[in-house]
This record gives sequence, C-alpha cells and structure tokens, in this order.
Amino acid sequence: RQLFFETQYIDPLKDPSLNYRNNNTRVNGVIIVLVRNAELHALRETMVHFEDRWNKKYHYPYVFLNDEDFTEEFKKLVSIITDSETFYGKIPKRMWGYPHWINQTKAAESRKDMESKNVIYGGSESYRHMCRFNSGFFFRHELIEKYDFYWRLEPGVEFLCDIDYDPFRFIQNNNITYGFTISLLELPETIPTLWKTVTEFSKKYPQYINKRSVSRFISSSGATYNGCHFWSNFEIGNLNFWRSERYLKFFNYLDQAGGFFYERWGDAPVHSIALALFLEKSQIHFFNDIGYKHSPFQHCPIEKKFHESGKCYCDPTENFDVTYGSCTKNWFAL
Ligand code: GDP
Ligand code: MN
Repeated sequence: RQLFFETQYIDPLKDPSLNYRNNNTRVNGVIIVLVRNAELHALRETMVHFEDRWNKKYHYPYVFLNDEDFTEEFKKLVSIITDSETFYGKIPKRMWGYPHWINQTKAAESRKDMESKNVIYGGSESYRHMCRFNSGFFFRHELIEKYDFYWRLEPGVEFLCDIDYDPFRFIQNNNITYGFTISLLELPETIPTLWKTVTEFSKKYPQYINKRSVSRFISSSGATYNGCHFWSNFEIGNLNFWRSERYLKFFNYLDQAGGFFYERWGDAPVHSIALALFLEKSQIHFFNDIGYKHSPFQHCPIEKKFHESGKCYCDPTENFDVTYGSCTKNWFAL
C-alpha cells in the first residue's frame, strides 16, 4: 500500500550514521517522567519495555518529577530497572499551584460544572495543575535546565517496535524541534475560550508568529480552532523551544487568562497551537517508525518491512492514524 506521507518524510532508518552500531554516543538528552508514587508498578513495566526497545543501547538519564516527595521504595524499585542515572525531583509550589490572579472559588465552581457535564477530568483539580505544569514549567525545572533534548514518558505506555537509532541525535542533525506519534481532536468542552485567547495573543505579538508556519494544521481560516493536536503523552523535542521568549510570552498570556483553571486547557493543545504558530512543517516530525500505545490509541506502522524484519510486534490494522478522530492524515495532506 502506498503511504500518504512517503514523499515528504525524512526517514531516520535510512541514515546509517544514526544506527546505534555505527554511533552510540549520546547527545544532551534526558527522559522526563512526571509520575505519582502510586504509579510505581505501571512505571516499572513501561520502563522495562522502554529499556529493551531502546534505552539500554544508549543509557540516557531519567528525571522523575512529582508534586510530592518520592518514597524511598519508589526510588529503589525504579533505579533498579535501568543502568542509566536516575534523578528524582520535587516540583516547587510556584510550578504546581494557583497563581495569585486566579479566583479559586470560580475555579471550584467551574470544576463542579464540568463534572456534572461528565467532561473527562472535568472535576479534577490535580489534573489542571498537571496540565499547567506540562504547559509552562517542566522545561525549566532545576533538574531539567542543563539538557537540550527530552523524551516524555508516562507510566502505562507501551513501545511496540525496536528503535535502533537515537531520536535525539536525529532531531539534532535535522533541525527538528518536535516529534509526535499520534495526533487527534481535542474535546471542545475543555477549551471554550482557548482560541479566542490565542487570537488576542497573535494580535498583540504579531512579531512572534512565523509567516511560513504550519498553522493550517490547527485552523484553515484562522477563525476557529479545529481541535487538532499532537498527543503530548509522547513527545521528543528540543527543550529550548519551550524556553524561548516567544513561547514563554505565549504561555504567560494563556496563564493570565485563567483557562487552565476556569476551563480545563490541556498541555497537548497548548503545545500544539504554539508549535503550529511558531514553526514550519519541516521542524515537526512524525515518528512513523516508533510503535506506541497509550490507551485507548496506538500508532503501529503499517508498512510490511517493520513486521517482516521483526522490528515491530503490533497489529497494523489497529493503527489510529487513518481512523476518525486522528489528525495525522490532515498533517500529511497539508
Ligand atoms: P491522561 O494521559 O490525560 O489520562 O493523564 P494521566 O493521568 O496519564 O497524567 C498525565 C501524566 O501526568 C502522567 O505521567 C501522570 O503520571 C502524571 N500525573 C497526573 N496527575 C498527577 C499528579 O497529581 N501528580 C503527579 N506527580 N503526576 C501526575
Ligand atoms: Mn496518560
């Protein structure tokens, strides 16, 4: 079957200098995991697979972050899974809490309202802190500051193909800022005023908007947001993008508007909108070769070569890319 993206795709597997047998030296990358103590066992399972599929070839360090202290048991049972260095950090209150301008009574009312409408995580306060942290702070946590590249990992996810090269080196060599495996539509109930806020930002700071940006991925006319976003439970990217003046201005603008608390803005649409306004298409990469599952969706490469070579062991007919709700076909139609 002819693939819709073949013509516009830089294939990391075609670059012999990236193969770990030819080059297994590390670049300045880190694996970042935001996780709770209670997720210890799901995390261990994910890490065993992640090590087997990829990281045992490179030994990239891990940074685990938590809004509470990690337990000694957590640290012991996590560090034993990997030969890599592991670091455990607590998130400071200014990165996980209410900014002074937020009206907490109004925030609580909006949670009750969204819960009564059965919006997923609509009633959760911690989920909102998590989304705000992932939108505006993870890249400037003190344990992350010294790194350039990151791979976001979550407890419970699965990797479905062997990865025989270094995605960090790949994005460095090709000037790629961000990579994804799954893209999809956001629930409109979680972001009623997000696009209006983004539009205000763009009017106020036109100098930050890239004239050759890939904004058509998120909006055909500019009038409305189509909901398309990269699923941020998987991200491989350049941390310096999030640390840039334009992104920090963007985040602060959204943060001031209060939608992380008065609505339920997710870090995935926030990241994706910024990427689509600030970057060109060539700076964003679809990692087709990385089979990945975060329930209930998975990306499984459909080309025979991945399965006949023994690299992947997922079911290519259970591939979210081409089904309803995925935005990946729109990405390649651009
Ligand atoms: P979903 O993927 O949108 O269903 O959300 P998850 O429950 O998977 O949360 C996203 C990520 O944030 C995961 O890595 C979780 O472990 C982490 N996370 C979510 N809430 C909290 C929290 O309150 N504290 C900590 N430390 N991590 C959290
Ligand atoms: Mn998750």
